Amino acid sequence: MIFFGTNGSHVRTEPLPGVTCPACHTANQLRVSIFSRYVHLYWIPVLPYRKPAVVQCQQCQASWEYGKIPAEADAVKQAVRVRKAATRAPWWHWSGAALLALGVAWAAIFTIRKAQHSAVFLAAPHVGDIYTVRDDSTRNYSLLKVVRAQANTVDVVANAYETDDAHPIRKLNRPGNFSKEPFTLTQLDLQSMKNKGQLTDVDRVEE
Ligand SMILES: [Zn+2]
Repeated sequence: MIFFGTNGSHVRTEPLPGVTCPACHTANQLRVSIFSRYVHLYWIPVLPYRKPAVVQCQQCQASWEYGKIPAEADAVKQAVRVRKAATRAPWWHWSGAALLALGVAWAAIFTIRKAQHSAVFLAAPHVGDIYTVRDDSTRNYSLLKVVRAQANTVDVVANAYETDDAHPIRKLNRPGNFSKEPFTLTQLDLQSMKNKGQLTDVDRVEE
């Protein structure tokens, strides 16, 4: 279950010079306090969504939320509207959104780099490279391991197991799982398997 809710914090309080209190009609005694409400996800602020404001008179202590300022006190309403517009939510009310954006950017970079590595590894195979292959009929994944690499061909051994996990290397990459009978694939075979989505990933296990 995802836990989320809303919360708020005080941003600023400042005087509203030049307007009179709608209740006691004293001039220059109103102050406005502006708050920022935000949505939080597990208590991490994600998105500010509203800026409530409260006006209070220091003379008579009467107070009004922005929406409840009497209609005849239009000058007060106007002054508060200007202050609200000039008030930004604190940066930390966006921190969850910033984290999310960083996460998405990181994932995109990781995916691009992985694809680049796969292309390089496929074009210049090394003994020990592991190909993830997808069976068209069962839609399951398995592995091929390079046991001999030459200019235009590789000899590979097939893993005896398959799984519906698109990243089966952790589960299936054990020496005993591979056949002892290698077979040969050409660079053309490999490229064609890749283009058809039958070869989905190349991993180079570092020695
Ligand atoms: Zn007043």
